[in-house]
Amino acid sequence: MSPDDFPPGSVWLVGAGPGDPELLTRKAARLLECAEVVFYDALVGAGVLNLAAPGAVLIGVGKRSGRHSRDQATIDRLLVEAALAGKRVVRLKGGDPSVFGRSNEEVAALAAHGVTVRICPGVTAASAAAASAGISLTLRDEVRALTFVTAHARAGESLDLDWPALASRRSGLAIYMGRAAAPEITRNLMAAGLSGATPVLVVVNASLATERVIRGKLSALGFLVRAVSNADPTLLLIGAMADPLRAAPGDWLERSQLPREVASRVPRSQVT
Ligand code: SAH
Repeated sequence: MSPDDFPPGSVWLVGAGPGDPELLTRKAARLLECAEVVFYDALVGAGVLNLAAPGAVLIGVGKRSGRHSRDQATIDRLLVEAALAGKRVVRLKGGDPSVFGRSNEEVAALAAHGVTVRICPGVTAASAAAASAGISLTLRDEVRALTFVTAHARAGESLDLDWPALASRRSGLAIYMGRAAAPEITRNLMAAGLSGATPVLVVVNASLATERVIRGKLSALGFLVRAVSNADPTLLLIGAMADPLRAAPGDWLERSQLPREVASRVPRSQVT
């Protein structure tokens, strides 16, 4: 990245990844170091924000379901104002900006004001969740398609999704914002013909020290998510690929992963 890539008065939409700062791209880290103003989402943690320059202005504009702190129009306006004031602006978004991130609206607002805006991709939650669970999101011959779907409904409304299409046996589902709707998801997928025995994974806080992976089957999904707090980002994986034993038999994942806290304490020189 050359300095010309981030002139004053321009904006980068930057994927902050799923939480672990080490999952940031090098480009994202560089852009953060150069930014004078950083607007960040609720899911972007301190580990990532700490990479911003000491003098940078950090502005939280997070929207969490039920607790909207800033509406989208306000965020668009703040981004435009900061850019027109000649600042180098980073808009940090959890995961990848292009996945359920409304990045198109921000790009459109900035472009409408003649502001140069570019996008730096990030690791999306589905990829991080698959890695945490030790699975592949696709399986040769068996899971040939993967659908990213959001199960976030407006308050009081039911989900407006094409359930028969989602219930296809040969595809996998990665459901974002699906914790609250888990019982409705189970009901609709089973009514559309998907077996209650279909494997599911509930991955909470993927990539963070607090990460949890809960395994089960579709018919029990509503029960599985009960232990998950509303405040914790949760990704649901549904389909044949969500059975870790399909990745490799036995307890390979437990055996091959160091507990995260231990791993981060191993001095660099000892990592081979
Ligand atoms: N742009 C983001 C998604 C934004 S929607 C991305 O690409 O990942 C926010 C939803 O993403 C959360 O409600 C949750 O379903 C999911 N999510 C984000 N980070 C997560 C994490 N670390 N673990 C599990 N799910 C996560």
